[in-house]
Amino acid sequence: MTTRKPSREIAVAILGATGSIGLSTLDVISRHPERFHVVALTANRNVERLYEQCLQWRPRWAVMADAAAADKLRARLAAAPAKAKVKKVEVLAGEEGLRQVAGAAETDYVMAAIVGAAGLLPTLTAARAGKRVLLANKEALVMSGRLFMDAVKDHQAELLPIDSEHNAVFQCMPPDFAAGPETGLEKSGVRRIVLTASGGPFRDRPLAELAAATPEQACAHPNWSMGRKISVDSATMMNKGLELIEACWLFDTVPARVDIVIHRQSIVHSLVEYADGSVLAQLGNPDMRTPIAHAMAWPRRVDSGVASLDLCRAGRLDFAPPDPERFPSLRLARQAMEAGGTATAILNAANEVAVDCFLRGTIGFTAIPALVERALERVESVAADSLDAVLAADRAARERTLALIAAGA
Ligand code: NAD
Ligand code: MG
Repeated sequence: MTTRKPSREIAVAILGATGSIGLSTLDVISRHPERFHVVALTANRNVERLYEQCLQWRPRWAVMADAAAADKLRARLAAAPAKAKVKKVEVLAGEEGLRQVAGAAETDYVMAAIVGAAGLLPTLTAARAGKRVLLANKEALVMSGRLFMDAVKDHQAELLPIDSEHNAVFQCMPPDFAAGPETGLEKSGVRRIVLTASGGPFRDRPLAELAAATPEQACAHPNWSMGRKISVDSATMMNKGLELIEACWLFDTVPARVDIVIHRQSIVHSLVEYADGSVLAQLGNPDMRTPIAHAMAWPRRVDSGVASLDLCRAGRLDFAPPDPERFPSLRLARQAMEAGGTATAILNAANEVAVDCFLRGTIGFTAIPALVERALERVESVAADSLDAVLAADRAARERTLALIAAGA
């Protein structure tokens, strides 16, 4: 009798393994050991958590953001008991390490879950290496949309959105759209895309109180548990602005065809309206394991661990337009996308700096969109036709925003 070799498991590299999306990804993988295995885990500075994850997952590679943290992790792994079997985990450092694991021949899928611009180069590397890119790191696409989508096309990568709204839109699109953006919205009979937004923790707070909002209040999201940067982005609704830009690139469309509605229950994750008036929506409990499992198993379906949606318990689904005065970030993002070129990289960089300063207590909450607006006015947007142009815009916007903050603007 011959024993058949089991078909090879899919090797997943998780960039940003210690974060909110990274942990949810590992949870999904733990439910399907016959289907997926972890080839690489990466983190910024959290050596202890990455060490624990190495003990559990025994990846081929572990990457820390800098050499000092990598040394610490190496020492921890070297001192682990022999039965932990982690001596063979190779520890790498920095951007070079991230790019190595994202582009490695052994890697099949790359979960891009680093937060912010730091994720751009490894995510782009994964696209250029023709991987299945599971895209959580929306900032990478906001910065370099055209370059990124071209890389996906030129290298036959598979780009699957993890952001719950875009994953929902993807699920509601006609099947021939799945292959890439070439078909175009109109040719597919799609009239518009509607992204839903919870409105974040400040949707009902008196406007006069926003200036004094604290980081803790901004990070207390009513429906989702997420990293701090995206939580603040949800409070300003810059997150939805970034998502509008993300949707334009992913689904090959323009801002005018993407609407945003506030839906406080976060059960309808987004909608697609067709030319005949049909509107398709994807619903589910607000739990990122659903889009993660969807994108990892696509085109199949697997268990994600998410409970069934109880619509009767939810009782009602509310929808309302966003208030432009409360959420100026939406206008800024729309304008940046319409302006094109490096404007979206400028918007993203200024926002990252402003959010970071807000979280450190250097600036107030309402200063965030004000700074982004000034950076957009003062940093010139040029064609985003090379990585150098995008990175230069990112640097210039960071410098300008820091200068504005230092000047007390
Ligand atoms: P998080 O802060 O919880 O985790 C970020 C991860 O990136 C961590 O593992 C951290 O170690 C790593 N990291 C941070 N800075 C780094 C750097 N300079 N170099 C290398 N690694 C670095 O964030 P999150 O909530 O998991 O979000 C990750 C990405 O997914 C973001 O782009 C976010 O917008 C997107 N996203 C998150 C959610 C969510 O529910 N959390 C939903 C949709 C999209
Ligand atoms: Mg989202």
